[in-house]
Amino acid sequence: MHLYEFLNIINDFDLLWNYLCEKKVVRNQIKCPKCDNKLNVRCTENKILHCTSKYYKRYKGRKRQKITCNFKISVFHGTWFENAHIDIQKICRFIAYFLMIQPPRQPFLMNELEMSSSSVVDWINFCRELLQQWVLNKQKVIGGNGRIVELDEAKIGKRKYNKGRIIEGQWVFGGIERNTKNIFILPVPNRSSNTLSSIIQNYVLPGSIIYTDQWRAYRDLENNNNYTHCTVNHSVNFVNPDTGVHTQNIERVWRDMRANIPRYGTREKHYIYCLTEFLFKRIYNFDERIDTFFEIMSTMYPLDDLNVK
Ligand SMILES: [Zn+2]
Repeated sequence: MHLYEFLNIINDFDLLWNYLCEKKVVRNQIKCPKCDNKLNVRCTENKILHCTSKYYKRYKGRKRQKITCNFKISVFHGTWFENAHIDIQKICRFIAYFLMIQPPRQPFLMNELEMSSSSVVDWINFCRELLQQWVLNKQKVIGGNGRIVELDEAKIGKRKYNKGRIIEGQWVFGGIERNTKNIFILPVPNRSSNTLSSIIQNYVLPGSIIYTDQWRAYRDLENNNNYTHCTVNHSVNFVNPDTGVHTQNIERVWRDMRANIPRYGTREKHYIYCLTEFLFKRIYNFDERIDTFFEIMSTMYPLDDLNVK
């Protein structure tokens, strides 16, 4: 779906609600947990559903009595939208812009949606948080017989703050298959041989020809019969003059990645969140992003059981 199409849907509350129901991220009907009455979610400008069904109850030794159920529940109960303090049309508009516009977009979002700076930051984090697990798990295995795979590690972040506080940043490890340009990137706690080896085993198919620099963690690859390993010595040149080996494709990925990650992060998760957004946008084209975002939402926040206390 294109951005203008989604914005049109958002402008019409009923259309938007139907879209969200189809995507299974909100309910169009809620079964009252108290009396099993079916509550239809229509005209949900009012977020609270009120069950007004009447039924009879017989008390011990007394005449039966007519009772009104009176159960109240938020239409967003158990959904991703549950704790939102802004209306759903605005949230969806926010999501649309988040998915289509690269950072820096803070001033635009504040102005366009009339939101405060901190509210924009919060909502960007909510969106990234939703995508995080999905995106990191979704990554493809690359390589295969005779295919060239470039591997490299990179650090995102590491800034010194004026009060002497240092944000150490985040190591990531990734690879790109030259033919298909398919990539994987994973946050890693360090770039030790152990860490990298297990990822290589999981994400690079046997038979691949692996190109790396001469970082010592890759030495294990020499003895690994699953792969052919070639290196370029980056302290001497960028292309191995004898073999033509280079890792410039993965380095281009790092440049793109860093361009999309602001330099100043204050939260622990900041860099992984940014990485998540970068990967999502690399995997999905503009016209796939909106539908995919809501499909991920329905996977992460399934509507099956309504656990109401
Ligand atoms: Zn009820």
